[in-house]
Order: sequence, then C-alpha cells, then structure tokens
Amino acid sequence: MSASVMMSEIPWNEYQRRIAEEDAIVFVPVGAVEQHGYHLPLGTDWMMATYMARRAAERVGGVVAPPVMYAARSQVRTGGGPHRCGTTSLNAETLIAMTYDVLCELGRHGARKIAVIDGHFENRFFLDEACYRAQRDLEARGVRDLRILKMLYAERISPETMEKAYAGVSFPGLDLEHGGILETAMMLYCYPDLVDVSKIPDEALPDFPPYDLFPVRPDWVPASGCLSSGKPATAEIGKLLVEEFVDLVSTAVSAEFR
Ligand SMILES: [Zn+2]
Repeated sequence: MSASVMMSEIPWNEYQRRIAEEDAIVFVPVGAVEQHGYHLPLGTDWMMATYMARRAAERVGGVVAPPVMYAARSQVRTGGGPHRCGTTSLNAETLIAMTYDVLCELGRHGARKIAVIDGHFENRFFLDEACYRAQRDLEARGVRDLRILKMLYAERISPETMEKAYAGVSFPGLDLEHGGILETAMMLYCYPDLVDVSKIPDEALPDFPPYDLFPVRPDWVPASGCLSSGKPATAEIGKLLVEEFVDLVSTAVSAEFR
C-alpha cells in the first residue's frame, strides 16, 4: 500500500481508513493560475500551497485532497491584475461554490478535521465564506463535529527569517511580494527546475495610488508582471522560508486538531 499522503495517489478504502481509524486531517490546498513574472511558472501559487499541505500532512498525519488550482481574480495592486495572458481566474461565486462543494463532500464522507491552506492573497474572504457555509450547512444536516481551519501559509514570518531573507533590501509588504524574493526563493528551493534565474526582473517597485480602477490600468504594473524584484532570492533563503511555513502550518493544525 502506498504511504503517500496525497488523496489522488491512494485507493478509496485506504482514504476511508485513514480518516476513520487514524483520524487523518484532510488538507485542501487552494492556489491560483496566475502570472508570476518571466521567471516563475503560472502554477506557483497552487504548487506552493500543495507543497506546504503535503509537508504538513506528512508531519501531523493527514491526507492532501487535490488542490483547488483556479482561484480568485488577480488584482492589480496585489497580484499584477487580471489582464495578463495566462492569469486565469474564477468569478468569486465560482470559487466559493467550488470550495464549498469540496468541503461538503469531504465532510459527508467522514472528514471531521479539515485544513484549507491558501496560497493566493486574493482568495482570502471567498474561502472564509466557503468554510463558513460548509460548516453551517453540514451542522444543519447533523454533522456537528466538523471543524475547518483556514490559513494563508505565509501568514506570519519571524523577524529572524525576515532579516535573512531581506538582508540589505527592504521588505515591500506581502501585497507587493508577487513574484518577488519570497516566491522566487521558495520556488528555487522546492521546484528549482521551474525557475529561470536569468529572467528575474530588476524593476523599480510600482507606486500604486490608494485606489483601484476598472478597467484596470496595465501601465501601473511593471512590464514583467512582478510587483517587486526577486533578484536577491536564493534556494538557501527559500529553505528558511519554506521550513518556517511548514512549521507554521503544522503547529497551527496540531494546536487545533491534535
Ligand atoms: Zn503567488
């Protein structure tokens, strides 16, 4: 029998056994299909969310459901916007409905501890809504012991890691960390073959006004689509960040479910 924690890689009865007998936590990674500059792949967000979920599941005893790859619309001031070719987003209602359906099915089949791991800034409130509705509606149908934890895996970074990751450069804020040091370093550590370091842009930080416009103004976003430069990123920095985020997710999930 495969020891994989990935739901897609094990038979149904093994999945059933793990949630029934081993009290497995079911992880649901949610990402995005979104441009991340010239040097990172379009799947960066769902790949990293799935990576974090897999590592945490291996640590705390869990199963990782197939990720929700498509996600909430990319916004100009946080993800470079919806206008770039390849940034393929869902309408918010679709993301809520899709995540809600998955959570309800997991709960209907016996999962009682579910961890939704978000890897895309814009998903936040739509995932809250999906989690809220799924828990509420399952409770109304008699499932009273289901609990759902939802977190952005990069919710917090320790001052020590910040200092090492941003040595000599200033942290632009998580909203501008799109295709920047954080994501470039993490991808260099986890998926080095998918990063083209020769294409990392070195553009100035965008100077966004404190509002959004519809239709979007493409010229607000640097040509590459990155919102900050990933030039200083290394796999070593990536390791620091990734291991810290795996700890963060594992600790949160253990605190609530173990
Ligand atoms: Zn991203």
